Amino acid sequence: MPNLDSYAFFGEVLDTLDVALCLFDAQDRTVLWNDAFLRFFPEHAGHVHVGEPYRENLLRFYRGRLSEAERANIERYIEEGIERHRSQTRPFVFSHRGRRLRVASQSTPDGHRVRIWQDIAPEQVVPAQDERWAVFPIDLLNFIADGAMVLDGEDRIVATNDEFRTLYDVPDERSVIGLTFADVVREACLKAGQEDRAAEASALDNLRFAGAPFEVCLPGGRWRRVIARRSASGVGFFTHSDITVLKRQQADLKRAMDELATIAATDVLTGLANRRRFDQALTEQWPKSVAEGRPIAVMFIDLDHFKAVNDSFGHAAGDECLRRVAAAVKEAVTPSADVAARYGGEEFAVLLPNATGEEAMAIARSMRRSLRMVDWARINPRLARLTVSIGICAVRNPAMIAAYDALKRADDMLYRAKNGGRDRIDLMEA
Ligand code: GH3
Ligand code: MG
Ligand code: MG
Repeated sequence: MPNLDSYAFFGEVLDTLDVALCLFDAQDRTVLWNDAFLRFFPEHAGHVHVGEPYRENLLRFYRGRLSEAERANIERYIEEGIERHRSQTRPFVFSHRGRRLRVASQSTPDGHRVRIWQDIAPEQVVPAQDERWAVFPIDLLNFIADGAMVLDGEDRIVATNDEFRTLYDVPDERSVIGLTFADVVREACLKAGQEDRAAEASALDNLRFAGAPFEVCLPGGRWRRVIARRSASGVGFFTHSDITVLKRQQADLKRAMDELATIAATDVLTGLANRRRFDQALTEQWPKSVAEGRPIAVMFIDLDHFKAVNDSFGHAAGDECLRRVAAAVKEAVTPSADVAARYGGEEFAVLLPNATGEEAMAIARSMRRSLRMVDWARINPRLARLTVSIGICAVRNPAMIAAYDALKRADDMLYRAKNGGRDRIDLMEA
């Protein structure tokens, strides 16, 4: 167990140095914070609470600082903020309510994540007209392989290199001096006829403002990664690199991972969930049903005398029978709520959250009804009919019984149905 007292003590010590601290657990929920945290982020006072998801913290943070027009992008900022929170390895600097803050984020050995903010010297803005810019060594920027952009303290471009202009499709005759970075991206979008994306470009100013590295999508699925450094005088030095290939590889990898996850959870023969997926759904659903105080039912369905079908008509015909039964099982359940799975060779399992015994019985009956409608002779002219036996355990109060005990009882009911002559349903209410 983590020792939260020592984190709280640590927070108090940091308070004496006017350094803010907030601790999060492995699921990004708020654990504790110190007084300086509420001083730097007064929007959280009276709202932040133990167990609060980081998402809600970000929602208040952005609501307080976004213009009306930019609010449309708030979901995106929040997603990216959460991503930054998880992946941040180095401190970055941003401005908030007149303070310039440097924030560090570290994961702790006991699985928490701690964020620490330090109030650093305020920016002394150097405007674009300032004579100091005249001596800025712009030519040197062309020795940098990446795109480079220098912003003054008012976020206006004072210099770029040629690679920057190439990366953002800036025409030769166009000067970008005095524009914001969002202007440059907007022009690139408009040039490609993407009015809608052009509007979204204003979001970039906010992302940059937040101080962390960020990614920009340009027309044609081209991606740039931008990393900023800011001097105390407010001058921003930005490098831009082409990460299109990397993003494409990431997308391919994600697609492959998603496909693999689907394959790993699906039964090939029937397309239903497999046993692994069913077990996972059962362990995930049970505590939810306990918390909501709702009933839940589990059901086993087993083909009767199926070995004889295989022996008489062959394995291929047997497979076709399994598909028909799977279709009947699938048809009887609600796909968004229930989980129907092929649990073993010729055995199916169904998880029915919220179902009472009576409702589970009705679902089982509808499965048997649709099996009676199947034209089995099309699989083999000598196959007259095929029946199933069904065992159900319907749990009124899932807090009183463990998930796997309920499963065991449903299995007992299946065996009772078998011993009772097959082609029937047996229900136990627990
Ligand atoms: P009971 O009514 O007691 O359930 O009898 P049964 O014959 O259905 O039960 P038993 O467990 O003796 O046999 C199950 C059969 O299911 C054995 C096997 O040939 C068949 N089986 C299991 N998996 C598959 C499969 O993927 N395809 C086919 N075609 N048959 C399968
Ligand atoms: Mg069987
Ligand atoms: Mg069986």
